[in-house]
Amino acid sequence: MRSLPSILHLDMDAFFASVEQASKPSLRGKPVVVGGLSGRGVVATASYEARRFGVHSAMPMAQARRLCPNAAFLVPRFELYRQVSDFVMGLLRELSPLVEPLSVDEAFVDLEAGPYGELLRAGAPAEGVELVRAVGEDLRADILTGVGLTASVGLSGTKFLSKIASEQAKPDGLVLIEPGREREILAELPVRALPGVGPATAETLRRVGLTRISEVARTPEDELVRLLGRAHGAGVHALALGRDERPVVAERDAKSVSVEDTFEVDLADVDRIRFELDRLAARCVRRLRDAGRSGRTVVIKVRRFDFTTLTRSETLPSPTDDPLVISAMARRLLAQVELVGGVRLLGVGVSGLADFTQEDLFAQAQREAEAAEAAEAAADEPGEGEPESDAAYGGPDAPRAFHPGAAPARRWMPGQDVTHTEYGPGWVQGSGVGRVTVRFEVPGAVPGRVRTFAVDDPELTPASPLPLSGGAQSPAADSAAPR
Ligand SMILES: [Mg+2]
Repeated sequence: MRSLPSILHLDMDAFFASVEQASKPSLRGKPVVVGGLSGRGVVATASYEARRFGVHSAMPMAQARRLCPNAAFLVPRFELYRQVSDFVMGLLRELSPLVEPLSVDEAFVDLEAGPYGELLRAGAPAEGVELVRAVGEDLRADILTGVGLTASVGLSGTKFLSKIASEQAKPDGLVLIEPGREREILAELPVRALPGVGPATAETLRRVGLTRISEVARTPEDELVRLLGRAHGAGVHALALGRDERPVVAERDAKSVSVEDTFEVDLADVDRIRFELDRLAARCVRRLRDAGRSGRTVVIKVRRFDFTTLTRSETLPSPTDDPLVISAMARRLLAQVELVGGVRLLGVGVSGLADFTQEDLFAQAQREAEAAEAAEAAADEPGEGEPESDAAYGGPDAPRAFHPGAAPARRWMPGQDVTHTEYGPGWVQGSGVGRVTVRFEVPGAVPGRVRTFAVDDPELTPASPLPLSGGAQSPAADSAAPR
């Protein structure tokens, strides 16, 4: 185990909701709930103000509306979240080449692998502790200055404890666990806090009277192995003692790249399912190429309407990063899956990664054949009109939904960006009975005025999100709940 708390875990506070509050000045300090707004939608993120009413992530939206009827309920704007995420991940990569993103707003950083490594190894342990603390505080300040959002930081000698530390630091804080204090910190936490301990394992442990991590730590390893099996039992025992040797793995060292989307409404139409699959394949290839990689095995994941989840995979003779090859394979795999009843979630992944693409003749020939097949399939594609529910779940690559003349009625989603020829940029507060209400305000300014229009007002059009301004106003800071 390392002697310095040099593994940093960063987690943005109530990320989607905080971005919305930072870009919509009238929502600062107010309850905000971001997620799927219709039908079976669930909460993606609730602001701290909404959490006080009991609203939390993954809760059905209908329940959130009952608990906190006065909150602003908004659709997610993934395009903007990704821009903010890119900025934050960029700051992390200045600290170390070893950055392991866990999601759009969360990552591990190994500070010893970066520019501070030498200083950390050279100095006394006490100086090292103060240095990593300063690095963590500077990072939080840089995020606030750059995009006006608060983040929480955990620092310790292991990934597992750093994640627990950032959780304890929330919101807008930093917690550092000095090596040697691991067991003390873990003692009172429930066993569920251990990575890999889900409801089933927790129940097995509870039946023999083990509910706290400290109790698991005191249990002989053989007993845990007998209860949970060799690998799992030994792993749980080590974690309970604060031992976690898992290294921080940069994305380029990952064994696979995958992307997935959950749909707010089950996709029932096969053409629409293929369209989404192609889009996911394209996104997956972009990530693969960004990392300078290629892969041999294409995997698709399909969660059906009844929550059954299937994966299908196929392996190529040599690695590829060709979008046509990957999407053609994904489609072939999709053809093996029963789609009747609808699809809730789709994913595309590539594994068996290599650092380069092997250009042998066989692969070349196969690519050409598959490209031809994909081109043929694309020619069968239905019309170019956007599927109308795009705006409803707005995936990161969702095209702007407005096509003049394509759709008779436009759907205005709460939170959506718009612009008016006379009043300028704003966002949709709500719509109904042929009217749409828009608040005209921009990030970093004072709360703006509300005006109402006919839903088909030609002067009102969808717009791209405006970038967040820096932390001079620090909108999220004053909206964070007191600890
Ligand atoms: Mg977060």
